Amino acid sequence: MKKELKTLVNIVKTGSREEVKKAQKEIEDFTHWRGKKDRNSRDESFRIFLGEIKKFEQIPDIDHQCYFISSLKWAFFTLGSKHFDEFSKFVLGCIQHPSGKIRQSILKASDWLIMSFHTSLIFDLPKNSTNEQKEEINRDQLKFCQFVDKVGELSEQYFLPKYGRIKYISSLPVSEYKSIQMLLTEVLLRSNGYERIYDDYLRKINQDDAVADAETILTEIKLKYFQHDIDGKKLTYPDAVCSICNKKDIAIGATRNVFLNKPEFVCEDCAIIEYQTRYGFLSKEAATAHRRRIFDIQYLLHEMVIDEYLADNNIDDYEKIDTEIMGFLQELSQNIYNEKLSKAEKIVLENEQDQDVVESKIRILLSITLDNQQESIGRRLSRSQCCRPK
Ligand SMILES: [Zn+2]
Repeated sequence: MKKELKTLVNIVKTGSREEVKKAQKEIEDFTHWRGKKDRNSRDESFRIFLGEIKKFEQIPDIDHQCYFISSLKWAFFTLGSKHFDEFSKFVLGCIQHPSGKIRQSILKASDWLIMSFHTSLIFDLPKNSTNEQKEEINRDQLKFCQFVDKVGELSEQYFLPKYGRIKYISSLPVSEYKSIQMLLTEVLLRSNGYERIYDDYLRKINQDDAVADAETILTEIKLKYFQHDIDGKKLTYPDAVCSICNKKDIAIGATRNVFLNKPEFVCEDCAIIEYQTRYGFLSKEAATAHRRRIFDIQYLLHEMVIDEYLADNNIDDYEKIDTEIMGFLQELSQNIYNEKLSKAEKIVLENEQDQDVVESKIRILLSITLDNQQESIGRRLSRSQCCRPK
């Protein structure tokens, strides 16, 4: 009769060497179930390892701790991508363990953790993959890269000047540092493909400002005059095709190669997924809200420029402004946004949760810039008003 997984894990933690070997073999058999239904119940049973890793220190001796880690690889393999946070934390703890045996065991096991999302790390996406699949792959790659970051930090922490003279990892003295280096180079960045993913991630982070808070979902800016969607429906373009997912009739999220003959479009969904990966947002909601903010700050500034104009000219309704002046106000607000705000100031505005604070900051900015430019603005505005048919 088949033993329960829990019973087997207990044998691994306390049994004799022979018993442990037998139990480990039986645990391995659990991974061989076939079929989706089987897979679900298999994953369900492997979940007990999530609780077990928390009790790791209670395992009586180093040998049994190593046996346990060696069985853990099956949980890494089956649940790794779903429970990467918990498992990777465990790996980070073990790789710093004073016992070299433990460090060796976790090195071998972490190979399986990375394998659990090797599809995401190795293969290029098939053309017809769904947004859901892409999002999952982006997420996996992001988790992987952030884990590489953490291991890199550990490596700096354990580095000693005397290691600097040693050229090959294999020549390093046995140490936490050596194990961490092995995790980094032999498990994580083991091949060009993995390195490329990590390099891409680094390049993007260094190129753009990393987002300070990848978790927060920013509140939506309330606008008076402008709206994103007409009657709640996104404006789509029947002839536009997304260059990433090939969908037609899309809401356009980004345009590429604008200066070439054939510009490429990216649908809003794909643009958001790219945005999420590039900046390392933890959820699609946080990425969506942040991306929207960048546009909304500009809309809000534009609306406030309009309000200044309305107040200065005693006009009570925004609809009464003629098209030419509207065009001028739009140009003016774009210039203020582009030229009068530093990158750092833009980031501060984009990340401010309270719309009142955002508005008061913009108001200060407008009072300075509009005052300075008053004369020329006044001239241009009055000229254009003169020409307006009465
Ligand atoms: Zn798309």
